[in-house]
Amino acid sequence: MTAAPQRTCIGCREVRPKAALVRLVRGADGRVRVDDGGRAEGRGAYVCPDSGCLGKALHAGRLGHAFKRPCEPPASGAAAILNGRVVNDKARR
Ligand SMILES: [Zn+2]
Repeated sequence: MTAAPQRTCIGCREVRPKAALVRLVRGADGRVRVDDGGRAEGRGAYVCPDSGCLGKALHAGRLGHAFKRPCEPPASGAAAILNGRVVNDKARR
């Protein structure tokens, strides 16, 4: 049996199954956003869908460390990410 892929949450630093985490990606403009489908190109960072973790993770310093480059936190903020579980920039319907 193969182990499911695991990633470290940049909020709490716990290693969890990738599927249980929200994937964040850094755009070319430095703005970090949620990667809905998990397929966006580039380096990803992972965070628990949890207000505590998101609160810690969505800081420019923390994101900058995770992506190793200067970052802007998502414009939507932690609450919006939690509301939809994952926020989609595109229209939902
Ligand atoms: Zn976490």
